[in-house]
Amino acid sequence: MEKPSLGRLEVICGPMFSGKTTELIRRIESARELGSATLAIKPTTDNRYSSYDLVTHTGQRIQASAVLNAAEILALVGELRISKSMKIVAIDEAHFFGEELSQVCATLLSWGFRVIVVGLEFDHRGDVFEPFPALFTLSNDTTRLVGICSICGNRAIHTQRMNPSMQRIVVGGVGDYEPRCEKCFAPSRG
Ligand SMILES: [Zn+2]
Repeated sequence: MEKPSLGRLEVICGPMFSGKTTELIRRIESARELGSATLAIKPTTDNRYSSYDLVTHTGQRIQASAVLNAAEILALVGELRISKSMKIVAIDEAHFFGEELSQVCATLLSWGFRVIVVGLEFDHRGDVFEPFPALFTLSNDTTRLVGICSICGNRAIHTQRMNPSMQRIVVGGVGDYEPRCEKCFAPSRG
């Protein structure tokens, strides 16, 4: 009988414009150079720039599959598992998937995958996005990236929403959000 192998979880988090997707693409590309195929996944709610690519704010891109929710990640991986070279599952915009993502990651780890999860740790109120506390407990390697505060230039860990909105998740890019340090961040009330 095959010995069950355990996977590895890497979490990359930080505010918008801190280079998270750039770091994810860098890890995917170096794994591909070593011969490991990667399934890159993003939520369908994010249709900025391109529907099926992971795209950084500076225009780097990598092909990705779009799913509606965390459960679909397992279904997709299940379908593609016949390919033995597929060893890595990369999940961008993890905050869109909610609490359910941590259970999905635990399952992927039990299947032996290297899982790389990327997303915003804090929302526009400064509260932690649900999947992250649970992901941190599963994580083998956590990278917290910081941006540059748009007001004072210090280390930014928050994402300031520039347009008032009641929704917790609003997709946007340059102009809609700014990186802010803890001192300059003004939590939205919505
Ligand atoms: Zn500041």
